[in-house]
Amino acid sequence: MSDHAGTRCAAPGSAVAPAIAGIDIGGTKISAVLTDAEGALLAKGVVPAPASEGGPAMADAAADLVLRLCDALGASLAGAGVGAAGVIDQERGVVVAASATFTGWTGFRLADELVARLDVPVWIENDVNAFLLGELRWGAARGASDVLGIMLGTGVGGAIALHGALHHGTHGAAGEIGHTPGFSALRCTCGQTGHLETLASGTSIARRYREATGTEATTPEIADRARAGEASARAVFDDAARATALAASTTASLLDLDLVVVGGGVHAAWDLLEPGIAETLRSDGPVSGIPLRVVPAEISADAVARGAAALAAARLADPETTPLVAV
Ligand SMILES: [Zn+2]
Repeated sequence: MSDHAGTRCAAPGSAVAPAIAGIDIGGTKISAVLTDAEGALLAKGVVPAPASEGGPAMADAAADLVLRLCDALGASLAGAGVGAAGVIDQERGVVVAASATFTGWTGFRLADELVARLDVPVWIENDVNAFLLGELRWGAARGASDVLGIMLGTGVGGAIALHGALHHGTHGAAGEIGHTPGFSALRCTCGQTGHLETLASGTSIARRYREATGTEATTPEIADRARAGEASARAVFDDAARATALAASTTASLLDLDLVVVGGGVHAAWDLLEPGIAETLRSDGPVSGIPLRVVPAEISADAVARGAAALAAARLADPETTPLVAV
């Protein structure tokens, strides 16, 4: 981050209090919210992500979206938080590693680039970490302190909160549950074999359904077919549910967790996941006997952006703070 304190939004003296931006940068879209200091939602918007055009184009798109929301609201900007895809060095504000979906993203100095465009302090986090912050502050994990967050989307991501704060690990990569092994004999997007992502991502659900049926369909379409009773469609969701629950049970056993929040696009099919998760928790739950709840995210669509805004709000209030967002 920088110590810039200016703003390019709204003229000085505006009657509206400065807003805090939360930005969700993904491979297909960039969404943003403006909140007040307490996190109340003031505005939100979304634009396509130019992920193949390089880091500066992504930063341009994100900053333009935020500035347009500020203009529409007539508010100045106090700071911004970002939840971005990839492994993030949140101290330096740099993208350390990213999937092949992103061109020129690894090594990109995202925080500095956004400071240059927005002229306010910017803090960045991994998008799944920001999702978990959002769910801790506003969603299904409100009031919890030790939680695993799992996002079932294009890929599978994870994040861990301990004592109400994100656990980053020594290298900033803690919680990367999507690429833990032992779930299947299938090739993963990362090149290794058997990772959770090979069964539980939206991409793998669609691919496995295509391989089983010879039919091309989106994950929501497959979900509708499962609800209509089609066995092949049902099976790929059952496999995703079982793998997700096994990952949840393993992590809960290691860290003594009693809550796992599941978000991401696939969680829209929670009605299809829930039976397989419940069955797996009965057969393979933590031997501690401590009841493990695996629940759907509540603010999933906005959780990354709102969590990123909560991060920025906490840092603006106290730059030295570890953002403790559990309340
Ligand atoms: Zn993998």
